[in-house]
Amino acid sequence: MTESKTTTIVGPWECPTGFLRNHDGDERRAFRGSDGRVSCVICATVAYDIPRELRAPVAALPMSMRELIACLTSSSMVDMPTFQLSAVADGRTEKIDSDRAAAAVAHGFDGAVFDNVRIALRVPPYAFETIEISYSSEDLKVAEAAPRPAHVDLSSLTDARPPQSVMKAAGELVTQGYDLIHMDTSGATMRVATFRKGQAAAPSHGITARVRWIASI
Ligand SMILES: [Zn+2]
Repeated sequence: MTESKTTTIVGPWECPTGFLRNHDGDERRAFRGSDGRVSCVICATVAYDIPRELRAPVAALPMSMRELIACLTSSSMVDMPTFQLSAVADGRTEKIDSDRAAAAVAHGFDGAVFDNVRIALRVPPYAFETIEISYSSEDLKVAEAAPRPAHVDLSSLTDARPPQSVMKAAGELVTQGYDLIHMDTSGATMRVATFRKGQAAAPSHGITARVRWIASI
């Protein structure tokens, strides 16, 4: 991993990928760059930091979801555009407050206690590319029990000529067992690729990930 020419090291920082994957504290030592991303020598990733107010809600998410966020927000290549986590919310309160999430973790509950979860990510600074992940506790069970799709056809996505950040995210979603179930190119400039995990087991259930981007025409 080499340091990008336009980025300078600001100071020591905790590796966000190490936080998401529960690495030991000693293995989370990283450096924050002037572009706001964190470089970790130990896990060899460059990743956007997790906004402070989202740390407790993220800590309450199931490990499968934390792993997906780790994959979407990091890269082993400095020049690869990645997403940043921008919101974690549930259907009852819209925003999981830190105290409640921490209390749930203290009581040994997993993310499933928060029903109708929505997780939002964007590529800074303009958010021309976004991802919204949504699921209920039932969807989570369906997704975890479902077999991986044998083959995922991404041709409708590649035909829509998405930016590099979206292609990387699509690859991560497929690696995590998601299938591309719908590609919407009907909008003037908005493109929406809908991915789902668990689709094969129960067609209208499973974890849904909507990847949106503004097409450059
Ligand atoms: Zn790390």
